[in-house]
Amino acid sequence: LTQRSFTTCFGHVFDADHVIDEAILTVMRAPHTYTTQDVTEINCHGGIAPVRRTLELCLHAGARVADPGEFTMRAYYYGRIDLAQAEAVADIVNATTEAGRQAAVAQLGGALSGRIEEFRQRIIDLLVEVEASIDFVDQDIELVDTAEVAEFTRGIIADIDQLLATAHQGRVLRGGLRVTIAGRPNVGKSSLLNALLRANRAIVTEVPGTTRDVIEDVLTIGGLPVLLSDTAGVRDTDSPVEAEGVLRTRQAMAAADLVLLVVDSSEPLAEEDRQLLGALDGRPHIVVMNKEDLPKQVDAGAVAQLTSGVSVWVSARDGTHIQDLEEAVSSAVWQGAAGAAEHVILTNARHQQALEHSREGLLRAAEGAAEGRYIEFIAADLRDALAALDDILGKTPAEEIINRIFEQFCIGK
Ligand code: GDP
Repeated sequence: LTQRSFTTCFGHVFDADHVIDEAILTVMRAPHTYTTQDVTEINCHGGIAPVRRTLELCLHAGARVADPGEFTMRAYYYGRIDLAQAEAVADIVNATTEAGRQAAVAQLGGALSGRIEEFRQRIIDLLVEVEASIDFVDQDIELVDTAEVAEFTRGIIADIDQLLATAHQGRVLRGGLRVTIAGRPNVGKSSLLNALLRANRAIVTEVPGTTRDVIEDVLTIGGLPVLLSDTAGVRDTDSPVEAEGVLRTRQAMAAADLVLLVVDSSEPLAEEDRQLLGALDGRPHIVVMNKEDLPKQVDAGAVAQLTSGVSVWVSARDGTHIQDLEEAVSSAVWQGAAGAAEHVILTNARHQQALEHSREGLLRAAEGAAEGRYIEFIAADLRDALAALDDILGKTPAEEIINRIFEQFCIGK
């Protein structure tokens, strides 16, 4: 084949002298390819028959069908990307929301790997010092300042904790933000749900790991998957005791990441409103002052006194200021941090576990150093901490972990 790298040429796919289809051939030569190996792509017309015949001819000529994830696995094995980046490819393919896609693209670009690599280097620096003094230990020379080791190690732990704290946002990206709309009857909960649905035609139809019967609707707000749970059952009609409604709302709220508490602003604050506001118990919430189209009767100052959360004024009926509410939901998730595109977020449960594992090793090392334990033990704990980080990047990974990761890919990636 004499075709130059990164060029395409037009031609025909033949079965003997019989034309199967017109096609474009792309040649990409090593090493600047997806897998770092030579890659050739044949583009024929879509549709089942031409693709199947062309594929059959390729197989007949000695090619074989790729295993799921094989291209990405090759890219990993030949060192073009690390394991965390390879996992990001699967995340991009499977992304159902904009924020999830952004986080995955950042991870493929090496944002997470860079952080992990930085932690690795700091542990390696420590190990170099600690191990060096092991070699001299029988000469009774105190080479390493253990108090300094303890302090340095705690510094790494603090930074790992910062990254671990983003796992909450990662969970939201993966599993969706569980939002409960609460409020006493007739304040406009159903109307608000409909207004949010109207504004956010859900592209997402299914979020893994969610139970269908609890979830009422899935929508996307600010690029985030949001699961709106049903509190329609929270009525006090069958119970003269208002506390019953509050109790059930409290249960629904306990399961939520974020509560939207709806208040009817066209009426004075009712006792049940006060109870519900009180039941928010410092959990993340937004007070939705509904029916802003009607004359205002509610005492907004009293509401502000009862909660620490933000209040957003809307009219669920007219759909006004629903966008303000959406923005409030987004900022509740990101808590002032930049969005998924700009900051490193731990989206993968495997990474989170490994990072926690690494943290444990570091904590043992820090405590050991502070207590003046044998330097060999401290070194062993540091090596554990390092190995856990290596697992994230796939530096010395067990074959089993690798296989499990690439099994989840679809063919052709
Ligand atoms: P829920 O019981 O809390 O679910 O309340 P609904 O959504 O069923 O609404 C109760 C009543 O309030 C209905 O008659 C709605 O049309 C009305 N409503 C809801 N939101 C608004 C609003 O923003 N403005 C006005 N004027 N009426 C509203």
